[in-house]
Formats: sequence, C-alpha cells, structure tokens
Amino acid sequence: MEKIVSLCKRRGFIFQSSEVYGGLNGFWDYGPLGAELKRNIKESWWRSMTQLRDDVVGLEASIIMHPRIWEASGHTSTFSDLMVDCLLTKKRFRADQVDPQTGIAYFYTGAIDGVSGKESKDAFSTFYEQRGFQNPALQGERSEPTENSIRYNPENGSLLTEPRPFNLMLKTYVGPIESPENMSYLRPETAQAIFAQFKNVLEVARQKVPFGIAQMGKAFRNEINPRNFTFRSREFEQMELEFFIRPDEAVEAIFGNVAKPAGPGHPGEPQPNWGWQIWHQYWVEERLRFYENIGLPRNSLVEYWQKADELAHYARATVDILYKFPFSKRDDKGELAGEELEGIAARSDFDLSQHQRFTGKSMAVFDEELKTAWQKLSPEKQADLRERYGQARSKYLSKSGEPVEKAEKIARDEAEALTKGYYVPHVIEPSAGADRLALALICNAYCEDQAPDDKGKLETRIVMKFHPRIAPVKVAVFPLLKNKPELVNKAKEVRELLRPHMSVFYDEAGAIGRRYRRQDEAGTPFGVTIDFDTLGEQGPELKDTVTVRDRDGMTQQRVRISDLPGLLASKIR
Ligand code: ATP
Repeated sequence: MEKIVSLCKRRGFIFQSSEVYGGLNGFWDYGPLGAELKRNIKESWWRSMTQLRDDVVGLEASIIMHPRIWEASGHTSTFSDLMVDCLLTKKRFRADQVDPQTGIAYFYTGAIDGVSGKESKDAFSTFYEQRGFQNPALQGERSEPTENSIRYNPENGSLLTEPRPFNLMLKTYVGPIESPENMSYLRPETAQAIFAQFKNVLEVARQKVPFGIAQMGKAFRNEINPRNFTFRSREFEQMELEFFIRPDEAVEAIFGNVAKPAGPGHPGEPQPNWGWQIWHQYWVEERLRFYENIGLPRNSLVEYWQKADELAHYARATVDILYKFPFSKRDDKGELAGEELEGIAARSDFDLSQHQRFTGKSMAVFDEELKTAWQKLSPEKQADLRERYGQARSKYLSKSGEPVEKAEKIARDEAEALTKGYYVPHVIEPSAGADRLALALICNAYCEDQAPDDKGKLETRIVMKFHPRIAPVKVAVFPLLKNKPELVNKAKEVRELLRPHMSVFYDEAGAIGRRYRRQDEAGTPFGVTIDFDTLGEQGPELKDTVTVRDRDGMTQQRVRISDLPGLLASKIR
C-alpha cells in the first residue's frame, strides 16, 4: 500500500485534500491522471447501466434534500456506528474496529506523595516516581488480567469510554437562520432521491415495472475513522441502481409460476416470469461481469452472501462484492478476505412503502397485465395470493411501528388493490462506490517488472496495467527527436488525428526510454513513435508508418498512420 500511495501522489492520481494546510482527514482530491481514471470509471458504469440497456433510465438529484426523507429512510434514527473515545488522548474509534488487547490492565487512582516509606517497587510506585513523586502512597490502585478485550486503546493502552451511537450524517443549515427547523443533511447515499422521485420518473420515462433508475453522485458520511487511503472517506461518490420489480405474488398471478434460480451463474436475458431471487442473482452476475470487463480479474473478487444475522431487517438477501485490497484482513488460510466494493441488496418493497407512509402519497403502480390476469384466476388462487400479499404487507406495517389493527386494515386494503392491478414495486439495489473502485483498479494495476534502460541495462520498471477501457490516457505520441521539425510536425499531425477519438498525451522531451517509462507509470496502454522511417527516409514502403508499443508486452508493431485510429479504437472500446 505504501508504494501505491506514494505512486498516486508522485504521478498525480490522488492527493490529500487541502494538503498545503496540513490536510483534512477523510477527504481526497484526484490529480490529472486520477480525474481521468475516475471519469472513465463513471462513464463505463453509466454506459453499461443506462445507455446499453432499454430498461434503465438516469437521474441526477440534488445533494441536499428534504430532511423528512432521512426520517423515512431510517437514517435519522439508525444510521450510526458505535464509537468509543480514548480517555487519555480523546481519540475516537469505531467500537467494532478496536484491535483486541491481551495483558495486564492497571487502574490508577492518584497517589499521595511523601507519606509512605515503602521500599518495594511495583509498577504503580514506578509510575508515580517517574512523575516526580518521592514516596507515593497508593490510594487503591489495582491491576487485572485482560484477554482479547476491546476496552483499551491499542495505541497507548488507555481505557476507552463505553460504546455509544454516533450518527454519520453531516448536518448543515439551509437559509440564513441556523435553527433546528432549517437543519438539513448532506445525503449519506444517493439512493433515496431515486425513491423520492420514483413517481415522477415513472410518469415521464415510458417504462413499466420491471425497470430501473440509475444515479451517481457525491455522498457524505462523517466516518468515525476514515482509513485505508481513500477506501473509507467522508466524502465519496456512489453509483447506484434501483431496479424495480413486481412482487412475486403479481408474477405468480400473471404467469402461473415464479421463475427461481436454476443454479449458480448468470441466468441469461431477463424473463417476464422472474421472481425477486433470480433478479437478484442476475444483478450480482451483471455486476461481476462489469468488474471483469474493466480489468478486475474474477479471482481478485469475492462474492460474499450476508448471513441472516448480518442482513438489514428489510433485506431479503444481500451480496457484497469484495475486492482483495492489499490492506484486507486475511482469512483462516492466510488468503486476503477482501473488502466491500459494492453491495447488491434485495430490499423488498421497504423503501417505497416508507415514503408512502411518510408522505401519505401512493407509491403503487398500476399493472394492466396483472389486472387482466387476475380476472382469469380461480377463486382459490385469488384467495391464496391475496392472503400472502396481505400478510407480507401487514408484517411490514407492524414492524414499522403501526398499531396492529391499523396495520391489518391497511394491509387488507392493499391486498384488495392488488386484485385490481396495483402494488408497491419491490427493488433490487446494486450500490457501488466510485472511489473504492478507483482504488481497486489502482491496486490491481500496480506492477513492478524489469525493463531495459536507454543503455540496454535492466532496471525495475513500475507499470500500471490498467485495462485500456479505463486507462486515464489511451495513447502517448512521441517524435523520436525533439529538435527535428519534420518529426515534431508529423507527430503533432498524428496527435490531431487521434484526439477526437481518445485521450492522447504528446511528449517530446527527453530520451525515448524515459518517455516510455513515464507513460508506464501513468498506465498508458499504447505509445506511438514517429521516427525517420515515418518520414520515408529509409525507403518509400515505410513512409507514413509508425511504431505502436504495447505497454504490457513492450512489443512494437509497425502500423500505417491511417490505420491507427481504427486499430486503437478497437482496443479501448
Ligand atoms: P461499509 O460497511 O464499508 O461502511 P456500507 O455497507 O455502509 O460500507 P453502503 O451503505 O452499502 O456501504 O454503500 C454502498 C457503497 O458505497 C459501498 O459498497 C462503497 O463502495 C461505497 N461507500 C460507502 N461508504 C463509503 C466511504 N466511507 N468511503 C468510500 N466509499 C464508501
């Protein structure tokens, strides 16, 4: 990690925010190469989620929203981590991240000096003597053995406070008066805006359930312990999709059955009779494909199924996609266990239902197919589906704190509405972090190998092996020599030819080997050199050809200039 962090600064991928002022913990800036990398990540995500699909549309909502949204989502009451403070240094830790300590704990009450003439030295007397006491008389000091205790600060052994909850949302005031009613939050996730705007989008998008709404943008969390470089920051970017699906009871009413996963792996093109489980599996596999497509090998990723006791109360299943970061914990076999890049949750109809309850406005959709199909069902089937749907709704409502009678009444009405084609859609949520992905791609790209310097001597080369699709710069263009106007002019012509199609870096300074090396560290996959052959000086057959050097294999290929845009574009697409 140290090497990676240092390269990130040296080459301008990532800087500490406000570094000239000593930095601000948990905030990071992307330099020239990092900004390109992150832009490419977000564009790949956006393209694969929206532009390459018929069933997902985009949204770009504001960062500050109505504070009631965070009450409905549960963030005001439950979005907190347990924190503990060091009694000595006041440093704050997340209670679940304190490394367990084993040893003897000493409790000091404060001695009185000059009373005792005690000769024998114990740890307590020594402690006080080191602080200037001549004859410390102890006042009830004691010690006790501790084993794997998380009550002590691992940095100095001091006792920590009792754990207490700390809400992670950052607050601000909207308008000129700093009063409680003007308090608002910087959004801790982008997802809620999608739910809050669900009805507006549905009206204009010419989409029917199943369909999705995608959004990416900044999110803020006042993390207690930002750490592991950009992995846990206080300001970061999320890329989230809410994919709305029919409740299983509606699928069953329309198709007679609910398709479930037949086995592991990608279930193929979406089918109308899919239930929530297969939709969930589909999105897990789609997301894994996405990561592989931008260069994270399958064996660097872990598909982690949350256990029943880890699931949020409304979630039916959650799969975390982990990347084996160098700082990840290790499992029993000593393998990197991985840290979360993305979570893919099947969230039932919880979110829209919450906004329905809090606003009093219906979040239900009308499904013509359901209405038609319902009329053709046998009375037994109708009763069965109605009963199951009503029970699920009643369970949600009473869990959300509605009195039992009221919950049952609303659930009965909602089950009745189902028979007429109305329901609150369920949702599958793939939620990823752009910064964590940038960090994963940087870690994955970092390589050291041996390459010859200008005199042919082997030296260690640092090379960032980014997939060409997300590499910050796609191609570097070099005239062999800086002081030959014909070479320089030709090289600039090549730069102009390529520029409309991809990001190009032009470099004429220094020995060619050194120029390659700089691009290796930037992760530029291709280098084009304009030499005397290009000018036709060695014979007409090589005129207007250039060498294309491949970053990873360091092989060179001679190519016609007119073929370059097509050749390179096919490799970066
Ligand atoms: P963690 O358990 O690591 O705190 P989380 O489960 O709270 O993450 P979600 O609320 O599911 O995270 O957020 C979705 C995604 O947003 C995460 O998978 C991650 O990529 C990103 N993310 C969340 N918190 C942070 C953070 N503090 N810094 C950077 N990215 C984050």
